Amino acid sequence: MKSQMGAAEAKALLKAQVNGELPDERGRFGPFGGRYVPETLVPAFEKLEQGVREFLHDAAFQDEFRRELREWVGRPTALSYAPRLSERWGTEVWLKREDLAHTGAHKINNAIGQALLAKRLGAKRVIAETGAGQHGVASAAACARVGLPCSVYMGAVDIERQAPNVDRMTRLGAEVVAVESGDKTLRAAIDEALRKWVSDPDGIYYLLGSAVGAHPYPYLVRELQSVIGEEARQQMLDQAGGLPDATFACVGGGSNAIGLFYPLLGDDMELIGVEAGGTGSGLGQNAATLATGTPGVLQGSYTMILQDDDGQVQETHSISAGLDYSGVGPEHALLQATGRVTYVAASDDEALDALEELCETEGILTALETSHAFAAAREWSQANPGKRVLIGNSGRGDKDMPTLTKYPPRIRKHASA
Ligand SMILES: *Cc1c(COP(=O)(O)O)cnc(C)c1O
Repeated sequence: MKSQMGAAEAKALLKAQVNGELPDERGRFGPFGGRYVPETLVPAFEKLEQGVREFLHDAAFQDEFRRELREWVGRPTALSYAPRLSERWGTEVWLKREDLAHTGAHKINNAIGQALLAKRLGAKRVIAETGAGQHGVASAAACARVGLPCSVYMGAVDIERQAPNVDRMTRLGAEVVAVESGDKTLRAAIDEALRKWVSDPDGIYYLLGSAVGAHPYPYLVRELQSVIGEEARQQMLDQAGGLPDATFACVGGGSNAIGLFYPLLGDDMELIGVEAGGTGSGLGQNAATLATGTPGVLQGSYTMILQDDDGQVQETHSISAGLDYSGVGPEHALLQATGRVTYVAASDDEALDALEELCETEGILTALETSHAFAAAREWSQANPGKRVLIGNSGRGDKDMPTLTKYPPRIRKHASA
């Protein structure tokens, strides 16, 4: 895709993006995005789009949203200097601590924002999909907070991988619906939730968990998650005395990454998105959509996807449920095409190793998703000594204990510097 976009076009699109002019009125980020949905879904999407236009930037809505972020989510989240990691890597390492947000990850920013929007739109019920379970937990909590019933669609495979989160959702008052169709992970859960939404578009609000899908979701989620990058930018100036040379975030659907990157797009720094490299580069062995995928339509959006030569969407593999998705947000597809953001992959093993290193040097048990960003940041640091890096620490790893138990720590090999 990169080679098909001329330098002048790339420059113009990046400028429009930095100026807040994307997506355009058709929900497009350059050639990507849009709304490719069946006729039956059009009224639901149009109603949502109108609601976003009416309320999202309305002063009263923003006041309420900002207050919830402050008083209930616990924002601003800390920016932590990582002294021992800095010494080991030879760079100055800073962490944006979304793991400290209520329910343990960045997903709560989006969930509470959309739950407030659902209220304004007069919805009687919220439905949500979940992969890692984190978005389901965030949605369940946000719906309890605003007083709306919540049903969470979750693939049967993920239910097994993320048992603690299933219990948390139930306890927070949500109904968890097991999805046995398709790949039984996130993609199937989204399909199932969309089917449910069509049955009652006026009474149901669909609370989508990442910057993916048809317009206006990629835009809506970016706007709600940009608080991460807005805070981090100011905190870097205040605490580090300057902006980073490079900023890293893991990319599943791309919501924590776009939230961190978007407010930094106009600044002079490298931005690096890190996908799940899984066990190898073959189809089905990873979820590295941007690094190894091709353009196509998935779940209502023209974006980069993992598909075979016949256009069949491929199942993916990653050790982290939250990165295990065969598509990616369309705004990332544009950021790759214009060259503004570089996307790389980290393998399951590299992620596990990075997780262990962060635990033992900084006392932070990070999420397996997040560990991918650390793995890439370490590699970059070794090639670029003396620089300053910022890493989006998207969530905490408590939810990953069932997986991590299978990989006992390797005799504290990172313990001493
Ligand atoms: C869900 C999740 C991700 C991946 O989702 P994005 O939309 O790509 O941010 C990353 N990190 C954590 C901790 C998650 O829970």
